[in-house]
Amino acid sequence: MNGTLPTIVADIAAEMADAPDRGTVADYIPPLACVSPSRFGMAVVEADGTTHVAGDGDMPFSIQSVSKVFGLTLALGMVGDALWKRVGREPSGSAFNSIVQLETEQGIPRNPFINAGAIVVSDLLLGRHEPGETIGEILRFVRGLAGDESIVIDNVVAQAEADTGYRNMALAQYMRAFGNIHHPVERTLGIYFHQCALAMSCRQLALAGRYLMHGGVNPETGRTIVSRQRARRINALMMTCGHYDGSGEFAFRVGLPGKSGVGGGILAVAPGIASIAVWSPGLNARGNSQLGTLALERLVQRTGWSVFDPE
Ligand code: GLU
Repeated sequence: MNGTLPTIVADIAAEMADAPDRGTVADYIPPLACVSPSRFGMAVVEADGTTHVAGDGDMPFSIQSVSKVFGLTLALGMVGDALWKRVGREPSGSAFNSIVQLETEQGIPRNPFINAGAIVVSDLLLGRHEPGETIGEILRFVRGLAGDESIVIDNVVAQAEADTGYRNMALAQYMRAFGNIHHPVERTLGIYFHQCALAMSCRQLALAGRYLMHGGVNPETGRTIVSRQRARRINALMMTCGHYDGSGEFAFRVGLPGKSGVGGGILAVAPGIASIAVWSPGLNARGNSQLGTLALERLVQRTGWSVFDPE
């Protein structure tokens, strides 16, 4: 390690504060457009629980597609590997909201981390419940993972997504035509939009991701969230599919399982070592946080934490 971890984290946050090229804040969900591009936050939770937070690391933001990791985890716990009959496990190489592959692939989305895949996961989570019950269950689950009851869903964001989410409606309707959405699309999308509207800080997000560095066990409670094999597989999907059509680039630059969201957050996992969350709302051309990616790149350079590094 090149320096001590607290210094590395503080230095990276200071460097990001001055970074000139901050990317573009997403505006297709209106409330997201109001977030200042000058924000940058970071939190690192080590395997022994030691936590380092820098910049705006305690400021809640819209975690958007990072939530797809938690939705998938919860759905695997509910329906097990039957989930894979309805969602694939291959990178799409297409944009996060792409519809093109659904036609040739009979309404089966390429993976659970593109919008279409996460909408199918939401449909599974809805199961036989009322939407309000499922939304409550997702919130309880994430609060339990983070050990923080103050986490909330931002209903303004959820409503804005429902009002403007025409592409997601198209994806859901199209998959319903293939029989891969089992509920009326408004009900399924209600789950999806509320899950995406979870508001969390980097600290809360890094805490929530701890089970992925610990073989599926929440180290705080000792509770098994998923089996070791499932945790390993979720990490594999984050590595191969977690950054949409920028997943190869993220593996190349950072080399950690990671999941991004258009709110500018990224959850990254160094298995056995750390759970890391970064946030900066400006996005690169593929819809992934510009400075979040740069910060993680610098972190692995200085710590040697890439899964592709020896030791
Ligand atoms: N709720 C967003 C959408 O469906 C999530 C996209 C993202 O974070 O990549 O468009």
